[in-house]
Amino acid sequence: MDKINHEVFKNLCVVSAPSGAGKTSLIKKICSSEKISVCVSETTRKPRKGEINGTDYIFIDEKEFLLRVKKEIYIEHALVHGNYYGTSIDSVSQLLNKDKVVILEIDYQGAEIIKIRFPLSRHIFVLPPSLKILEKRLRERGTDTEDVILKRLENAKIEISKAQHYDYILVNDDFQLAEKKLLSYVLDTDMTIDEKNRKEPLIDKDF
Ligand code: 5GP
Repeated sequence: MDKINHEVFKNLCVVSAPSGAGKTSLIKKICSSEKISVCVSETTRKPRKGEINGTDYIFIDEKEFLLRVKKEIYIEHALVHGNYYGTSIDSVSQLLNKDKVVILEIDYQGAEIIKIRFPLSRHIFVLPPSLKILEKRLRERGTDTEDVILKRLENAKIEISKAQHYDYILVNDDFQLAEKKLLSYVLDTDMTIDEKNRKEPLIDKDF
């Protein structure tokens, strides 16, 4: 991977958010653009109702995951909310070779690794309008048990504190507006290295 011409990594785009901020729905929307594709991660989390193996995630057990870590299959991996998640080198390389912008929908720990390995990558953090609204959204989606919801809400505070290290911060209040902004940030492949090195993220003006 590191032998590839590094210019290609300007097409790599990390999107992070606390659970329930609406990141996955926003990404699903903008992926109708043929210029964008999303890298499917591998996880030890059990599938939620309606999730499809190979589309939402590649679901594997912990033994297999740790074996793959040992074999250095992943470009980054992390333990998030008690489950392992990882991005395989092969899946990213294949998508980058198709000359598309490749979205990595990963947490802040993975984002930190990607930033160090690929400084040309672009990093976007999606915030909910408030923690109260985040809790409401997590409960309304009805996919997680109470224990899981509480753990994710607790972790949300840590995750939100990392937003300042991203290139862009986007608040998902009005969904259509957020979709438009996310699309423009994701496609901003001309962002210069100086812009990437700025101390403060670009925060959308409605924040
Ligand atoms: P969920 O279980 O709600 O789908 O995802 C939980 C968290 O894991 C989210 O913050 C999501 O972005 C993150 N995540 C998903 N795939 C990966 C991955 O491949 N690597 C890392 N580091 N985080 C991931």
